[in-house]
Amino acid sequence: MHPVIALVGRPNVGKSTLFNYLTRTRDALVADYPGLTRDRQYGRGRIGERNYIVVDTGGLGDDPNGIELGMQQQAMIAVGEADLVVLLVDARAGLTAADEDIATQLRRLGKPVVLAVNKVDGVDSRLATTDFHSLGLGEPYGISAAHGRGVPGLLEQVFAGL
Ligand code: GDP
Ligand code: MG
Repeated sequence: MHPVIALVGRPNVGKSTLFNYLTRTRDALVADYPGLTRDRQYGRGRIGERNYIVVDTGGLGDDPNGIELGMQQQAMIAVGEADLVVLLVDARAGLTAADEDIATQLRRLGKPVVLAVNKVDGVDSRLATTDFHSLGLGEPYGISAAHGRGVPGLLEQVFAGL
């Protein structure tokens, strides 16, 4: 069985960009506006000998009404199906209340979570990740999904957590 990895996080942190990198397809919609990928999206990936299934989700953590509620439900279904969750946050935006809400939800579920701080291109990765320690999800891992920087190391951490 291939492990299932769910990508979660509030809108616009780069989930679909990371999905595309991990699956090397253009299946997930990447857009400059939040919330476009409204359904779950599955893809296969492989690093070395190891295969995995990755699930892109709509954003978690916005006000739970209308379409946002549907997106949150999809994301929670994806989390329920996953063996491990990658919580994505945005180094450029910094730590937000929505990140804290999602982290709280994930900690309650007790699933393994790897915390990835995206968009560290052009910024000091160590500085950019420091604030995110307070989410209580272990060592934040700096990546640039757009450039693939840090992604192999992130996958190492994912497979170590399975
Ligand atoms: P999602 O809503 O979480 O799926 O986010 P998207 O993947 O659609 O990305 C949102 C925006 O962030 C897009 O404009 C992306 O090009 C941009 N983005 C994603 N990853 C990176 C990154 O590693 N670095 C930078 N600078 N921008 C990124
Ligand atoms: Mg998306």
